[in-house]
Amino acid sequence: MRINLISDTVTKPTPQMLKAMFEAKVGDDVFKKDESINYLEQKVAEMFGKEAALFFPSGTMANQTAIKIHTNPGDQVICDKDAHIYNYEGGGVSFNSGASCKLIDGHRGMFTAEQAKAAINPPDFYHSPLTSLIALENTANRGGGACWDFDEIEKIHTVAREHELGFHLDGARLWNALVEKGETPEQYGKLFDTISVCLSKGLGCPVGSILIADEETIYKALRIRKILGGGMRQAGYLAAAGTYALDNHITRLAADHAKAKEIGQTLEKLAIIKKVEPIDTNIIIFYLQDDIDEQSFLKKLEALGIDLIGMGSGKLRIVTHLDYTSEMHQAFLKVIQNVL
Ligand SMILES: *Cc1c(COP(=O)(O)O)cnc(C)c1O
Repeated sequence: MRINLISDTVTKPTPQMLKAMFEAKVGDDVFKKDESINYLEQKVAEMFGKEAALFFPSGTMANQTAIKIHTNPGDQVICDKDAHIYNYEGGGVSFNSGASCKLIDGHRGMFTAEQAKAAINPPDFYHSPLTSLIALENTANRGGGACWDFDEIEKIHTVAREHELGFHLDGARLWNALVEKGETPEQYGKLFDTISVCLSKGLGCPVGSILIADEETIYKALRIRKILGGGMRQAGYLAAAGTYALDNHITRLAADHAKAKEIGQTLEKLAIIKKVEPIDTNIIIFYLQDDIDEQSFLKKLEALGIDLIGMGSGKLRIVTHLDYTSEMHQAFLKVIQNVL
């Protein structure tokens, strides 16, 4: 039994999900004739109380499309220094949109309305880039799956509106935040102009993300997705997995969170662990003592059938997910307590 805790993207479709995929009615989505995709897009738009949604092959493409819509070349995007759009999308903000990022030195991938306001360049000062977008990430991945305080999001929304800035949410793991905090998609739909959500993380789908916005924005997104090479044909097989996951895999995220907290409590007691970051959802970030070599630590676990990865700068990450069973959980806890 190998235990893969690298990411919540490593899951494979369950038999029931595969069945839903096999039975999907499909058509050519470039002509908007794929019933399963149309259904999923409509369903997700309604969940968020928005007009429209668009299915994407990846969260990166959904985020990059949103950024392209909100900006012109030369503009600036405000985001946290740990943001996925800045760190893990291949420099796409500059490559795709010709825009730069103004990084906020936030806490666990999150920042305050005051910090956001201070990061806005005065629009009449033509020497500095024009600020056009504020982007948030919930949960914050590099922040260790941290959940935002909704009140702070509301305050940042006010700042964005006062300065006529776009407001984008990278909600790759928004589902985890909703479950953990008892929030609703509508709450987020009311505040953000654009929201991207992943189906391929905690929800356990093989592929897929969705961008949610108003009708006009989604029409623009359709063109940009095409330009980026994301126009897909009979992708309804993938959308059917998404619909299945939305109906069956959201509430169970609480089990992933409970396992993550248990892992954190166990790690905290080990002498070789320097520090475990607070655990809000399904991500555990921890640091080894300075005299422990990260590579040999990872190799040792690998030999014991456990896969983890480092996040750089001495950070290690564990992510719980749908395919991490209770049996694996017990085995993993035993290994880290007895062997390390
Ligand atoms: C995974 C992830 C994305 C999207 O990644 P893809 O691999 O392109 O689907 C975006 N933002 C965050 C915070 C993520 O964790």
